[in-house]
Amino acid sequence: MDKAQQLLSEYGLRKTGCRLEVLRQFMQNDFALSHAELEKLIGNSYDRVTIYRTLYSFEEKGLIHSINDVAGSVKFALCKADACSQHQHQDNHIHFNCTSCGQTFCLNEVNIPMLVLPEGYKAERLHFSAEGVCKGCS
Ligand SMILES: [Zn+2]
Ligand SMILES: [Zn+2]
Ligand SMILES: [Zn+2]
Repeated sequence: MDKAQQLLSEYGLRKTGCRLEVLRQFMQNDFALSHAELEKLIGNSYDRVTIYRTLYSFEEKGLIHSINDVAGSVKFALCKADACSQHQHQDNHIHFNCTSCGQTFCLNEVNIPMLVLPEGYKAERLHFSAEGVCKGCS
């Protein structure tokens, strides 16, 4: 069993060709991938609906999380190992959008600061992103 197969069984996901392929793409790249990018990468073997369903089940299981990038498109990235579980995402890190290569990175080591909100307000999700030049481009 390779790492991707191992992860799928850890997260209680049945091993299908598409799931393995999508997961491998996430493991190979250190930046977030959009549905369209995945389609470009593995679209010859799997149709868009299958890829979409795969992303949906991965997110539901706590394996990947979605990110809204500056351009307004949705991207996905692997969650930190053991950080998230089913329907319980704990991705409280900052996302970095590179203005040079256009990629989005998870800065897992940089936590979103705790916000103190006025009484009566309850935040369910925080979106924190930084924009600039990434390590590879600078
Ligand atoms: Zn997560
Ligand atoms: Zn870059
Ligand atoms: Zn992230």
